[in-house]
Amino acid sequence: MSSVDVTELSPEQLIELIVAAKRALYPDARVVDGKLECSQCKEQGIPALVEDGMTVTHDLVAISPSGLKARGWDGSSSQVSEEGEMLLLECPHCFQWHRIPEDLDVEWL
Ligand SMILES: [Zn+2]
Repeated sequence: MSSVDVTELSPEQLIELIVAAKRALYPDARVVDGKLECSQCKEQGIPALVEDGMTVTHDLVAISPSGLKARGWDGSSSQVSEEGEMLLLECPHCFQWHRIPEDLDVEWL
């Protein structure tokens, strides 16, 4: 892998790089029978809902193949949906982070 001199990149290019890196780093979450099936340790469990770059942990109420229900976001800001990369599901066994697939709805209660 060739190295990248990040000091030569523009802020826009850096953001693109970070987004691409996160895609590679965090696999899509797979939801089976109301649980997260971890891509790394293959265990199933109820994941923690975490926000990338923050220490906030939300209260995950329900998880299913069609969507999530969660508490903790006050709903007054749209920055989560704008970013789309912010919310991650953390495996309760090995703490691997997973991106929430685009077809999975997150419903804030
Ligand atoms: Zn795991």
